[in-house]
Amino acid sequence: MSDWHWLFGDQLGPHFLTPRAHGPAPNTPVLMIESRSVFRRRRYHRAKAHLLLSAMRHRAAELGDRVRYVRAETYTAALRDTVGDAPLTVHHPTSRAAHAFVTAVPTVRVLPARGFLLPGEAFRSWAAGREKLRHEDFYRWARRELDLLMDGGEPAGGRWNHDKANREPPPKDARTLGAPAPYRPHEDDIDEEVRADLDRWEREEGIVFVGRDGPRLFPASRREALAALHRFIEHRLPGFGPHEDSVLAHDPVMSHSLLSSSLNLGLLDPAEVVSAAEQAWRDGRAPVRSAEGFVRQIAGWREFVWHLYWYFGEDYRHRNALGHHTPPPDWFLELDADAVTARCLSTALRQVRDTGWTHHIPRLMLLGSHALQQGWDPRAVTDWFHRCFVDGYDWVMLPNVIGMSQYADGGLMTTKPYTSAGAYIHRMSDLCGGCAYRPSDRTGDRACPYTTGYWSFVHRHRARLAANPRTARAAQGLERLDDVQDVLRTHHRQTRTPP
Ligand code: FAD
Repeated sequence: MSDWHWLFGDQLGPHFLTPRAHGPAPNTPVLMIESRSVFRRRRYHRAKAHLLLSAMRHRAAELGDRVRYVRAETYTAALRDTVGDAPLTVHHPTSRAAHAFVTAVPTVRVLPARGFLLPGEAFRSWAAGREKLRHEDFYRWARRELDLLMDGGEPAGGRWNHDKANREPPPKDARTLGAPAPYRPHEDDIDEEVRADLDRWEREEGIVFVGRDGPRLFPASRREALAALHRFIEHRLPGFGPHEDSVLAHDPVMSHSLLSSSLNLGLLDPAEVVSAAEQAWRDGRAPVRSAEGFVRQIAGWREFVWHLYWYFGEDYRHRNALGHHTPPPDWFLELDADAVTARCLSTALRQVRDTGWTHHIPRLMLLGSHALQQGWDPRAVTDWFHRCFVDGYDWVMLPNVIGMSQYADGGLMTTKPYTSAGAYIHRMSDLCGGCAYRPSDRTGDRACPYTTGYWSFVHRHRARLAANPRTARAAQGLERLDDVQDVLRTHHRQTRTPP
């Protein structure tokens, strides 16, 4: 019986097959399973389903005779019919469900995770005995551990953190940031086949998707992912940073890298991505604040989120510290951007509908913040993000949504809930111009739903917010508001229809 190595659909780059210690031996036959039941369980964005299938099939085409590509209803059926009792190795899967599945199969040997910078044991020793797990502490430790952007024991460029320089509002009166265009792939025969399959599944098998599957926007092969990385590092990295927290209606991408789906599909190794950014700075091709700002996203946030997913345990997904139980409404679940009047929310929802992607701030301060203000069930919100974003996977969703966006963990991951009134959106975007609502209005027909939503949230959780030094001022602000009851009534009225 020959050994097999199983590649999951998010283990698609060469680093998942390079023979190293704890890797498959050279030329081990590879198994890939395209499981149909995955698409029956959840109503995914069609562009996401397309990207995933296209990427898996591109990888299979690259591997040629070495791979057995099985299309089956379930993993169990595919293993039974293809591998039988032969021994099988697999790198540590990225979800708890997949990990539980592989560890329950007696013939499977689980190899260490690939696709992240630091091993789980290193994170656990760092975390042991710490009362609070804070991103900034983790990030500095990771930089030292990895000798990344370091000059000896000191941070290269003299500072650990350039966040202050990276919080600028959008440039005044500019419709776009003027950054060089990001890489976009061209579709090929594999995409055509994927589209035909998805059409057939919808028509004949009752599989339903959400969102629009326009031209594929994200890399589906190693070659495309490397081209996207190269374009970003050479042309766009120098502009990354200053405006990363701002939003422009006509420039959804700005200077963001668009690399999340390639990293999360395993097409790119984060180690090559951060070292390319460091090298660009060392060669004088990018300023330190851009290189550091970008490295922080990957060696800091991405890595932190991955380790927290495992560290927080299975129960983390059920956390609901704020007791939010309202189901998200249909217009949100259906990505019905045209039903929404608030220009900012409708813009973000439209981007999700049309591309399966928005940058960080629309996710956090528009979509997530609205869900938090409305008291939507954090599990349903997590499921929505997971299904609708091209880069969404269980590991990355739980800390980002349960923790960072919905504060459902009560502050295990962040020091305060992330939500704001319309004034913040007005300062950090051009989305309030031409909106039917006014960010400063708390009552009346033009009251901004984020402003009424914010005060309604503060009112609902005033005791908790007052007890937290980082949010005590918000609770005090509520006491100074002379029209609280009117604001709450306005908010209540607004929640009955799309805002
Ligand atoms: P850039 O701004 O160019 O950042 C560079 C890279 O840093 C990203 O490609 C990503 O790999 C990494 N990164 C930065 N922040 C995070 C983070 N918080 N968690 C994980 N990686 C991070 N990111 C995902 O990869 N998948 C998700 O499903 C996802 N869901 C999110 C949900 C919410 C509510 C929030 C607030 C954030 C979420 N993020 C998620 C993080 C972040 O918004 C995206 O990684 C980023 O917008 C992707 O675009 P980009 O590649 O242009 O990122």
